Amino acid sequence: MTDQAEYVETRTFDSLDPRTATVLASYPIAGRDEVDAAVARARSAARWWDVQGFTGRRRWLLEFKRAIAKDANALADVIAAETGKPDEDSLLEVMMGVEHIDWASRNAEKTLKQRKVSAGLISANQQAYVGYRPFGVVGVIGPWNYPLYTPMGSIAYALAAGNTVVFKPSELTPGVGEWLAQKWNSLAAPHPVFQTITGDGSTGTALCRAAVDKIAFTGSTATAKKVMATCAETLTPLVAECGGKDAMLVDADANLDAAVEFATFGAMGNAGQTCAGVERIYVAAPVYEKFVDKLAAAVTALKPGGAATSSYGPMTLGKQSDIVRSQIEDALSKGGHAVVGGLESLHGPYIDPVILTDVPENSTAITEETFGPTVVVNKVRDLDEGIERANASSYGLGASVFTKDPAAGRRAAEKLDCGVVTVNSVLGFAGIPALPFGGTGDSGFGRIHGADGLREFSTVKSLAVQKFSAPLNLLTMQRKARDLKISALMLKLRHGRG
Ligand code: NDP
Repeated sequence: MTDQAEYVETRTFDSLDPRTATVLASYPIAGRDEVDAAVARARSAARWWDVQGFTGRRRWLLEFKRAIAKDANALADVIAAETGKPDEDSLLEVMMGVEHIDWASRNAEKTLKQRKVSAGLISANQQAYVGYRPFGVVGVIGPWNYPLYTPMGSIAYALAAGNTVVFKPSELTPGVGEWLAQKWNSLAAPHPVFQTITGDGSTGTALCRAAVDKIAFTGSTATAKKVMATCAETLTPLVAECGGKDAMLVDADANLDAAVEFATFGAMGNAGQTCAGVERIYVAAPVYEKFVDKLAAAVTALKPGGAATSSYGPMTLGKQSDIVRSQIEDALSKGGHAVVGGLESLHGPYIDPVILTDVPENSTAITEETFGPTVVVNKVRDLDEGIERANASSYGLGASVFTKDPAAGRRAAEKLDCGVVTVNSVLGFAGIPALPFGGTGDSGFGRIHGADGLREFSTVKSLAVQKFSAPLNLLTMQRKARDLKISALMLKLRHGRG
């Protein structure tokens, strides 16, 4: 008979294939002790990693990248098995993840090396520098919808900035995290720079409490609030990448075929389980009916299912179907129409495409994240009304604008309250590693990707070096009346005129 202590140590959970509910593998639920031990290992590895400098870290990370790229199909198989997404989508995810490792490792030095800044007129006797130092150990908590691409946006940038990483994947996709850790270990680095710990929400909480130097969280807004509360106990800084309710705006002059193709991809791809997927479409009145007809034809042609070649797969998180169902019910009860599908579109773990029109703006299908293959298409007067409605959301992750007028596209992009806007595409930013990614409001704060993503995982260190004594020395207890008088005069001459 096992005693309680032994039982706690061997607690496990299963990862399942959501298409068949078959058990793929069993993983340990890391408790407080295991998480603390992983962070302690990461802490000692951080010294070695720091000493590698930008050049050494770049070499290791590019080797990591090559090892992943060479074995891309094996990783894609794990992603497909744990999320249920089709093979091509899984491979695309690996491609995108690898691009970020490449960009982060090649751009860390340029972005983070110490640089000289002007000391200014009154401090001309000094030299001034800004430098960036790694935090130390970063805890990364990831979601299941893009179990590689999404956390890699934190992992690659944190590592390239000189931190070590302890990664807690979603309990739905632990195999992806394990695969990555094994791949890192296969490089035979002498220290555990990158580790994966598996478990449930309690493991995530333990990671927040394990004296890490920063938490990078990607997941729902509700969980982000819990994570932030836990981090507040120890004043641990947090970057939070949360959900979205992205709007697509279609102007009267837009190329409708292109807009429909992107709308179909943005709303239905990955079964709508995309943080920056298209959930609301606002179409200018003159082209509204035509757009709806074309979109209806496009989504009706999709073939969702469990095959490797399906248009999209199942709901990875089964209970998400209940949210989709309740939003469809709410929209229909408030006067919306289902022009494609409806409640009958939900069957088992799959949901066929649903298009809702004329949905009141206070419906949950408009106000809350759906995370399913359901999209609302509402008519607006023009682009300005579309912008107004797009901005009337608590979320602010992304948005897209379709117009043939480049100036109108740029103007709309300026006015949209969110972290990223694409013009004449959706999710176009995802393939540009130099673009920072993150949201506002309920979509979170901080940025991953790009130079800002590297800085997100660095602390800023300022340096002022005195070269010679100041001609007007005010930083002394023996300040001369003459120096103060000249300085006061300069104040008025420099700043008090014009
Ligand atoms: P959750 O918020 O449910 O979980 C995210 C992660 O947090 C999981 O690893 C989860 O572990 C962990 N967790 C759960 N509870 C706690 C806790 N109390 N303390 C610490 N960690 C905890 O999100 P999902 O996995 O369901 O992912 C979907 C969400 O992620 C959507 O809202 C989506 O929009 C968002 N997302 C945002 C992205 C962005 O970049 N802005 C990108 C991709 C997704 P466990 O799984 O074991 O419960």
